[in-house]
Amino acid sequence: MSVFHIAKIVLRSLFSKPATGMYPFKKREYYLSTRGSIQNDIESCIFCGLCSKKCPANAIEVSRNDKQWSIDRFRCVTCNACVEACPKKCLVMKNTYTAPATIKSVDKFTKSAESQQ
Ligand code: SF4
Ligand code: SF4
Repeated sequence: MSVFHIAKIVLRSLFSKPATGMYPFKKREYYLSTRGSIQNDIESCIFCGLCSKKCPANAIEVSRNDKQWSIDRFRCVTCNACVEACPKKCLVMKNTYTAPATIKSVDKFTKSAESQQ
């Protein structure tokens, strides 16, 4: 490779935009089909537990007695199996990612008392 050729590559690199996104200054744009994070329309949930059984990462816990559904987002691998298994279609794969965090936490969804009657 000639010196002229190398100089051409260096100059092109100096004056071209970076390939990376400059996060967090420039927010990422999500595609419609991006698998980001699971949301539960908890008022429609019947606590059947199918989503939990299908989850390969053991990220979902369902408590029929407490009317509570929870997800450990740091375990979730966004495979969509729970969404496909839900008979009530109350699970949705949102196209935005879970926000970064320094402490692991579990997101809990509890059915309101009104819709339990
Ligand atoms: S998307 Fe996959 S890994 Fe995540 S909670 Fe649903 S079944 Fe589990
Ligand atoms: S499969 Fe659907 S209805 Fe059943 S517990 Fe999971 S979210 Fe609720």
